[in-house]
Amino acid sequence: MPLPFRDGRPKLPDNKICAMHRLKCLEKRLKKDKTYYSDYTSRGLTAEQLQSSDWFTGPAFLWKKNLPDREAKVGEIREDDPELRKVFVCTTNAKEEQTILDRFEKFSEWSRLIRALAVLRKRVKEFKGEIQKGKESTSLEERKQTELFVIKLVQQKAFSEALKSLKSKETVSKTKDHELYKLSPFLDEEGILRVGGRLSKAALHTHVKHPAILPKDSHISTLLIRHFHSKVHHQGRGMTMNELRANGWWILGSSRAVSSYIFKCVKCRMYRRKPESQSMGELPVDRTEPTTPFTYVGMDCFGPVFVKDGRKELKRYGLILTCLCSRAIHIEVVDDLSTDAFLNALRAFIAIRGNVRQLR
Ligand SMILES: [Zn+2]
Repeated sequence: MPLPFRDGRPKLPDNKICAMHRLKCLEKRLKKDKTYYSDYTSRGLTAEQLQSSDWFTGPAFLWKKNLPDREAKVGEIREDDPELRKVFVCTTNAKEEQTILDRFEKFSEWSRLIRALAVLRKRVKEFKGEIQKGKESTSLEERKQTELFVIKLVQQKAFSEALKSLKSKETVSKTKDHELYKLSPFLDEEGILRVGGRLSKAALHTHVKHPAILPKDSHISTLLIRHFHSKVHHQGRGMTMNELRANGWWILGSSRAVSSYIFKCVKCRMYRRKPESQSMGELPVDRTEPTTPFTYVGMDCFGPVFVKDGRKELKRYGLILTCLCSRAIHIEVVDDLSTDAFLNALRAFIAIRGNVRQLR
């Protein structure tokens, strides 16, 4: 590895010189500027001196409206200074405009958003003197009005052109917004864009017959989907969509929006996950070696099984013997759980199936 600064390359300035230079600068500054308040405690003051000092009030410039300009204390810089580093500085000026709709993104629940906004609207009305001040919480009517206010804002942002053409007594053009055109939308008395449809003569609530239209990529639509999905206790896409429409909301492309929400829903992922299975170990040699049946045998006892012998009811056991290679099964009846009974059953088995090389 090459040593640094070996081939007559410029030497770094000595650290000692740097430190001394810094100390000198500090000394000069201390002499010139007497606003080092930590000195009061480190050097010590009497109680009288402390009272008359500006320890409690802070430096005088803090009480001024504008801060005094400090002269830049950068010494002369030589171009051939080896300590100088070339850097590129880029500045970007970006102005972010935040609408009231962007502020709604801080809310993760529809009901909380409506409650908070309803309280805010109430306080504004109280401040303006439109209503009397009171400590009651918001009423249902106020929250309904707030819902309409939020929907209006969303619709103004998403369907501004359609709203303009509908306000000027035209219909939505087919070419510009095909998805909206299919719904034959109209503006109700409150200025909300609603689905036209063919149900106007049905005996249903107006909001169910003509649900309010919402865009699929809005945060408000996500909040509504979340609200009604949890209201139907995390049931599937169909139930969530039905609940949305029964409450008077029509989200464009709701099928896909609801599906993608359910896909991400933590509770639904937990409920619908398939159970995990064990990964099995390696098979032993006697289970893979091709042999005649019942050369390698595994066995176990089961029971008791109640059998009838004439009028008597007897207790009997079963001895199950399986071929480890072909998985064939042979069952012998055992009279009781004694060694003799087992040996009899085993002898009967060997007499029928032939000799066994290994019993497990
Ligand atoms: Zn869910």
